[in-house]
Amino acid sequence: MALKLVFPGVYALALGPVNVFLIEDGSYLTVIDAGYEHSEQAILDAARSLGKQPADITNIVVTHCHPDHAGGLAALQQATGAAVWMHRADAEVVRGHQPMVRSTPAPGLLNQVLFHVLIKNVPAQVPAAVVAHEIGDSDLLPVAGGLRAIHAPGHSAGHMAFMLQRDGGMLFAADACSNVVGLGYSIVYDDLTEARRSLAKLAQEQASAVCFGHGQALAGAAVRTFQRKWAL
Ligand SMILES: [Zn+2]
Ligand SMILES: [Zn+2]
Repeated sequence: MALKLVFPGVYALALGPVNVFLIEDGSYLTVIDAGYEHSEQAILDAARSLGKQPADITNIVVTHCHPDHAGGLAALQQATGAAVWMHRADAEVVRGHQPMVRSTPAPGLLNQVLFHVLIKNVPAQVPAAVVAHEIGDSDLLPVAGGLRAIHAPGHSAGHMAFMLQRDGGMLFAADACSNVVGLGYSIVYDDLTEARRSLAKLAQEQASAVCFGHGQALAGAAVRTFQRKWAL
């Protein structure tokens, strides 16, 4: 299992092309994102490898509604009884109250190709899940010493980034951009102009590490690369 320590107390679990993160919080775990549908067993196995039982996962924080991040949410929530936190706009999609917006590919031939291979034929819906907590920009979640929500729309309307406010800061940029073949755009956006504004906002955050929904985390001096690339 590809479980990798990316920050003190923070593990990245690569589930195919998408990352799920497990954050140690005392004797409990917070999970960020839930992977594709049927990912719950891999996430529970990762928790067990850290010495935790399903009920030790007390919070699931979901960055946005797409099937690679929220597809496994309903089953993971049922297996753990965890509280789920999301922005209202994307929570309504996950609840099944609103249809998922059909995103369009970002500029570049590679994004066109990846869109057709990875995204176009994936059902634009996820198993309906209960989202107990709706969150907005600047909300401080009571997770692992404080997880600050940063509304970063554009990839989707309710897309959220998060800052873990300890050890110099760990920024979870989610799908605002990706770091798969180098730092660049995600494959799709609902609104690229809005996403650029969100990336500029994230570039102003001080952090000692940045991680992404897709690709490798950056740490130390490499964080400056992220900040310079997306500054307006
Ligand atoms: Zn996405
Ligand atoms: Zn994604």
